[in-house]
Amino acid sequence: MTKKILVLPGDGIGQEIVAEAVKVITILQRKFGLDVSLQHDVVGGTAYDQKGSPLPETVLAKAKAADAVLLGAVGGPQWESLPIALRPEKGLLGLRSGLGLFANLRPALLYPQLASASTLKPEVVAGLDILIVRELTGDIYFGQPRGIRRLPSGEREGFNTMVYRESEIERIARVAFDSARQRNKKVCSVDKANVLESTELWREVVTRVAKDYPEVQLSHMYVDNAAMQLVRAPKQFDVIVTGNMFGDILSDEASMLTGSIGMLPSASLNERGQGMYEPIHGSAPDIAGKGIANPLATILSVAMMLRYSLSQAPLADRIEGAVRSVLDQGYRSADIYTPGMKQVGTCAIGDAIVAAL
Ligand code: NAD
Repeated sequence: MTKKILVLPGDGIGQEIVAEAVKVITILQRKFGLDVSLQHDVVGGTAYDQKGSPLPETVLAKAKAADAVLLGAVGGPQWESLPIALRPEKGLLGLRSGLGLFANLRPALLYPQLASASTLKPEVVAGLDILIVRELTGDIYFGQPRGIRRLPSGEREGFNTMVYRESEIERIARVAFDSARQRNKKVCSVDKANVLESTELWREVVTRVAKDYPEVQLSHMYVDNAAMQLVRAPKQFDVIVTGNMFGDILSDEASMLTGSIGMLPSASLNERGQGMYEPIHGSAPDIAGKGIANPLATILSVAMMLRYSLSQAPLADRIEGAVRSVLDQGYRSADIYTPGMKQVGTCAIGDAIVAAL
């Protein structure tokens, strides 16, 4: 049966990188018989400009009806002064919560060809292959109450609520342990249980779930130490499982181990296997419109989509093989360029991937 993909380029470089990912999907349809239909729509600041909302109801309905959503990125300085409810990021958070996308899988894999593009010494990062499993629909990003209030003294106070239910912790822990079973069988759970009660409960529940996975080795680490260990000795990790905010920060840090944030894909899944696939970076307003953004994170997100939502693992392998081949040929976007390589733009990288496929 034809699977439905909703394509939401979003804002800034989202438009440029998603165009390259669509080229890749199109070649898979033509050459390898991939049976998918593509629908295109708007989200984020672009949706606000065109329809008055960062996530129009029609778009959320289309996302719910799709098997998978391919998203570019949202945001930009022109929308920063809008009330929070109308800002582009609300479009993204609305998709995540509306689809119930509680599990965010962020692999940080170092392609050997890019070892010298990392700011860390090659021996520290060579062979790096980490999977960060980030909880995506809970924590301080969604907790109530939240807001900015005026105190009797006249001073204003901003406040947010960090909150996790046992059921939310348990289901993300299971995703992490299931993933570790397919990998090197190690889970490191990251929390701040020494000072935050919500993560004290997190640690307790993860420890309980671990009993169902005796073949997987569980360790715990405070988030400040995890941030340090990720740059000191990142290869000690296999699967890292953590909450929404810690995962947001640690996965950006992990991206730099691999050379560039422009290389890292992600999958966000719900309990029905529906998923949203997007690069982990944002809309990069500083380079938007210049045709120099790296589209590989988005193209690799298509590979994750094929694997997790479309049951097409062999085609996912083909895309990942094409990425390796294009890097072998020396093509580099500006963010991963090192002397001696061929620096090319967004479109040329996409074309090279298509040619390699
Ligand atoms: P960013 O990820 O957009 O950019 C950070 C840096 O990385 C910039 O220097 C940028 O040029 C570079 N970069 C990012 N992607 C790249 C790519 N594919 N190729 C080459 N270089 C790349 O983060 P930011 O600057 O903090 O945020 C910009 C906007 O994006 C903000 O409005 C923010 O809210 C939004 N944002 C959106 C998402 C999302 O849509 N998932 C995620 C993070 C930030």
